[in-house]
Amino acid sequence: MSSYTQEKAVAIDAVLRASRVCQNVFNKLVSSETITKKDKSPVTIADYSAQAVVNTVLAKAFPNDPIVGEEDSKDLHGDAAANMREKIEELANSVLEESQTITQLLAAIDRGCYAGGSTGRHWTLDPIDGTKGFLRGEQFAVCLALIVDGQVRLGVMGCPNLPIDAKNPSGAKGCLFVAVEGEGAFQRPFDGQELQPIKMSTVNTTADSSFCESVESEHSSHSDAAQIAQLLNITKPPVRMDSQCKYCSISRGDADIYLRLPTRADYEEKIWDHASGNLLVQEAGGKVTDISGKPLDFSLGRTLKANKGVVASSASIHAEVLAAVQKVLAKN
Ligand code: AMP
Ligand code: MG
Repeated sequence: MSSYTQEKAVAIDAVLRASRVCQNVFNKLVSSETITKKDKSPVTIADYSAQAVVNTVLAKAFPNDPIVGEEDSKDLHGDAAANMREKIEELANSVLEESQTITQLLAAIDRGCYAGGSTGRHWTLDPIDGTKGFLRGEQFAVCLALIVDGQVRLGVMGCPNLPIDAKNPSGAKGCLFVAVEGEGAFQRPFDGQELQPIKMSTVNTTADSSFCESVESEHSSHSDAAQIAQLLNITKPPVRMDSQCKYCSISRGDADIYLRLPTRADYEEKIWDHASGNLLVQEAGGKVTDISGKPLDFSLGRTLKANKGVVASSASIHAEVLAAVQKVLAKN
């Protein structure tokens, strides 16, 4: 019997509504001529609106579930933020079933302040993962996961700009990814109904593989990755992409490896940046560890404080990739 049936339906609904908010903001604010690309306010408005939407939908269905969300409303009070509040109210209500006041929406955003941990159930949300990709009109994702007793049980990701078929990059875009622990990984177009199973590639030799990494070299070391690729005889250029779309891409076999290599010793990865992607890859038959080979531990609060970096790949080559990662990082 399927688990988390109601949670899955509610999470899909919430992520699709929030994805629509992001698309509306992009079409209205980012791509319009009236705003310069350097202006970060559209992404901020989209971030808050998307978190307000997801948290409102979750609160209605599961009023007792706490949420670990990236945003909070502290910068949204006071006169200086009046314009921002007005935009959030309009945007969030454009996709919600029942109209909410701005006070209700700010309270919904603040439902995301939970500390996380190892007991009970909670959700984790990145309303827009890959904000830089969002502003560039490239990849970003709305990422929502359910964690029960420290384990990720359900992950749903909306990727508005990801091509439905990677072999046809100029074709239709907008993919929803869904994984339930023990039940596999699935994809469907935003406007389709049927979830289709997806699988990691089964590449046998790293020489035939390709890898994904962040666009931003501050988030993952490009130079370390280049040395690792060389050691693994990888000749294809890296696929650079913002957000957890990297996990989605490898889950359906577009590429074989996702490397996230620490750039700072003190950075703690956030649970909302990895929870849904980590489950999706595992349910698609892949393996995810940190750079020391440990599984990602989502039971320690808002960050992955016991882990450093991420190595996700087809199970068939994971040991080899990890060995190359460790060899290069030990040297640098
Ligand atoms: P990506 O789009 O894969 O480059 O990842 C975007 C995420 O990187 C953001 O949501 C941030 O939470 C996270 N981030 C910010 N600073 C760092 C850092 N120094 N190392 C790794 N990730 C970071
Ligand atoms: Mg993020």
